[in-house]
Amino acid sequence: MRATALLAPTLREAPADAEVVSHKLLLRAGFIRRVAAGVYNHLPLSMRVLKKIEQIVREEMDRQGGQELLMPIIQPAELWRESGRWDVYGPELFRFKDRHDRNFALGPTHEEIVTTLVRGEVNSYKQLPLLLYQIQNKYRDERRPRFGLMRGREFIMKDLYSFDRDEKGLQNSYMKMHEAYTRIFQRCGLHFRPVEADSGAIGGSETHEFMVLAESGEASILFCGNESCDYAANVERAEQIHRPRQEQEDRNKLTAIDTPDCRTIEEVARFLDVSPQKIIKTLIYETDTEVVAVLVRGDRDVNEIKLLNTLGCLHLDLADEITIKRVTGATKGFSGPVGLKGIKIIADLEVSSIANAVAGANKDHAHFLNVNPSRDFSIDILTDVRMVEAGEPCPRCGGQLKEARGIEVGQIFKLGDKYSKQLGATYLDENGRAKPIIMGCYGIGVTRTMAAAIEQYNDQDGIVWPAAIAPFHVVVVPINTKNNEQMSLAEKIYENLIAANVEVVLDDRPERAGVKFKDADLIGYPLRVTVGSKAVSEQMLEVKVRRTGEMTMVPVEKLGRVVQEMLKNL
Ligand code: ATP
Ligand code: MG
Repeated sequence: MRATALLAPTLREAPADAEVVSHKLLLRAGFIRRVAAGVYNHLPLSMRVLKKIEQIVREEMDRQGGQELLMPIIQPAELWRESGRWDVYGPELFRFKDRHDRNFALGPTHEEIVTTLVRGEVNSYKQLPLLLYQIQNKYRDERRPRFGLMRGREFIMKDLYSFDRDEKGLQNSYMKMHEAYTRIFQRCGLHFRPVEADSGAIGGSETHEFMVLAESGEASILFCGNESCDYAANVERAEQIHRPRQEQEDRNKLTAIDTPDCRTIEEVARFLDVSPQKIIKTLIYETDTEVVAVLVRGDRDVNEIKLLNTLGCLHLDLADEITIKRVTGATKGFSGPVGLKGIKIIADLEVSSIANAVAGANKDHAHFLNVNPSRDFSIDILTDVRMVEAGEPCPRCGGQLKEARGIEVGQIFKLGDKYSKQLGATYLDENGRAKPIIMGCYGIGVTRTMAAAIEQYNDQDGIVWPAAIAPFHVVVVPINTKNNEQMSLAEKIYENLIAANVEVVLDDRPERAGVKFKDADLIGYPLRVTVGSKAVSEQMLEVKVRRTGEMTMVPVEKLGRVVQEMLKNL
């Protein structure tokens, strides 16, 4: 490719609304252009990277026996009604009507379509297992589309669905996909971790997220600091190890005390000169169906995902002032479990072992001292509902948990019979009995993977692509395009590299060398070959490695082979 013919409009500055580095660099290096919030044009450089990631994904899906197909983006509402998701998916589903007033959605995912397809075509155990996948645009009207390709409203996803006879078969398919995902992200040259993730309120099935490690990641991960332990979990999911240790103190008399304007844990702790660990934090939540009180130690935070799962509800939120006043009798900041009537009390495991705690008195500007669980109030559900923090023990080996930030690039999920039951996808076993097909689903965000790679590999000059997914491998930069000798040498090198199967751009633009070097760094070609006067006189070329900045002198006739070797390690 000649740079004069390449549509790669680089910018000196990133638009002000680009927050994360991948978004800034994708714009500046001429990979993408915004069309609407969360909707982008992919220019030729972007397209090349996406195709490479897709190809790696495709090869690894095929290696595990996956079969590629293509399902429609347009999905009829009837199928979503049948699965029960039309009403619960919410505003993230892009909905529209056709000219006959029939309802449709733009596919955010394809369980409905694929399960219906398999329902019609698979009848016998002999046709299972089946692994079906596609690579295609997905549509989600995200509440906050942001960070460029990281959270778009239109994005490319690989989604595979597995169909098995039973749990054992599903486990096998799941392991295959776990292995495939590991190979995919390794081949893309990324640092990543599979982590245990939350599987949602419905069904307690297994799920892992594949996280690319990067500071800008939206997800928080806890992993074991022990080299020999591979425990890692999304913080939403990480379990606490609770060793009940009843505090050895005499239980003192419950006493009410005035705490004027002390609404937060910090204010109460300061005013009463107690440690937050001795305070019971009481939060009032409202779900689809009820209002509940949630208790955690004062120094802890409620894990709303765990709470959602405990209650088995779809949505929950902190209650508003009016609801708090109605159920507790006091304004926000003075809620407590003592004397609280008519609502369920859910307490975190740690709460049960606090002795002589401080808690809100359900009366404005008042708290109780010496609150003791069991004696002073009863707990309806005692369970793990808090956030686990770095430094706590690993639930698997007891080692110390560490924290990292991650970008979720893929997720694998055991669905079981959730969709097959709802949509009636059954098969006949050896004995002619009808059974629901056991399913799994497995997604990879292709566009997000591209952005995640940039989050991981960049410096002050631009992108630093791993060679496996770089848009081109090499840029050849003639210093002076008006110099015929330099240009003809550059042309020769360009042709030779093409012949050696190297993906190469010849920067034949009549720009100053400095401008071309800057663009080469910005776009992130793994290797840069400079053709100046010395190259012409000595037939030696300067090859620069983008990642390390290292320069090597290479004889012209050896360039093809040397470049191929160098690329293997980049
Ligand atoms: P998130 O929690 O980030 O919203 P999700 O769990 O809803 O993602 P899945 O349904 O598991 O996403 O989709 C599979 C993959 O598709 C994700 O792992 C991610 O890589 C990608 N993906 C999901 N939503 C988006 C989006 N809005 N923009 C880009 N990629 C996305
Ligand atoms: Mg996910």
